[in-house]
Amino acid sequence: MIDNFGRKINYLRFSITDRCDLRCKYCMPIKNQKFYKKDNILTTLEIKKILSLFIETGIKKIRITGGEPLIRKDILEIITFLKNKKKKKLIEEILITTNGTQLKKYAKNISDLGVDRINVSLDTLIPEKFQFITNGGNLRQVLDGLVEAKKLKIKIKINTVLLKNFNEDEIKSMVTWCKKHSFKQSFIEVMPVGEVNTSRTNQFLPVSYAKALIKKNFGLENLSLSTNGPSKYYKTSLGNVIGFISPLTNNFCSSCNRIRVTSNGMLYPCLGDNGSVDLKSSLHKSDSEIIEIIKNSIYHKPEKHFFDIKEKSYVQDRFMNTTGG
Ligand code: SAM
Ligand code: SF4
Repeated sequence: MIDNFGRKINYLRFSITDRCDLRCKYCMPIKNQKFYKKDNILTTLEIKKILSLFIETGIKKIRITGGEPLIRKDILEIITFLKNKKKKKLIEEILITTNGTQLKKYAKNISDLGVDRINVSLDTLIPEKFQFITNGGNLRQVLDGLVEAKKLKIKIKINTVLLKNFNEDEIKSMVTWCKKHSFKQSFIEVMPVGEVNTSRTNQFLPVSYAKALIKKNFGLENLSLSTNGPSKYYKTSLGNVIGFISPLTNNFCSSCNRIRVTSNGMLYPCLGDNGSVDLKSSLHKSDSEIIEIIKNSIYHKPEKHFFDIKEKSYVQDRFMNTTGG
């Protein structure tokens, strides 16, 4: 599918639940977060149906995300469904983004089902800080999951959201830790998606800060590696690959190849825009009618997002746990 601005759209991020066993302070409010009503959440059958229709429109890469995707009871059924699509060469890649808390339990299944890569979110390596930022999480659980996944040779990328006055002092140690474990790594700017308990300006640390620090300490060589995504990849003199995702300071919309579906069946062609279409309520229509709806929405994907860390968030009622990352 080519959109209105000539971008090839072939990557779907499907958030299969808005629920999560953690409460990261930059992702959702600490208290009174509203979740979708159970009745509005897509069933396994509906998820499979929507996935099939996207695959028919030309989606080749599918990332399962959330909320925390590994807490959904049918996670293995969904991944098995995708595995069969991949076996028939209908899709090329199956990816998962997870907070890693359930990784120890699921690593073997993830490996057996041929998931191509997993992104594990980790913003600190200090247990007390992990507990603070996730509102109660246990770092040990995540590290044990990573050990298990590494043992099974699952390809792992660590995603770290840069947070002012929180993890700038750990950038160097996280780089050496990732090197030690042969994990790829991405540093990400916090995005104003939903209003949380602190101002986004208080949280925001630009990737230029991390990049300069890493360059000074480890060197950074530009890599031509392109994923058609937002990350720009570099290699340090230690040999590890590091990406920087800068939605605020260096807009990457002109090369954006992705669209998103939430667990209540809303298709969002752009993370930073409120425009969406309701696929769940269209599921009674014929396949060709639904595909037309999808194609029309993709065609009209906005040219760019309008994130501004200083302004009141443009995306207000939606949080990253609903749209996924
Ligand atoms: N629960 C899973 C996890 O944490 O990996 C998947 C969903 S989570 C929403 C996906 C990614 O979004 C995580 O890497 C998380 O750190 C990131 N994220 C959450 N809120 C964010 C925000 N406001 N700005 C930037 N990244 C954010
Ligand atoms: Fe949960 Fe992921 Fe959001 Fe943290 S970032 S609260 S783990 S959905």
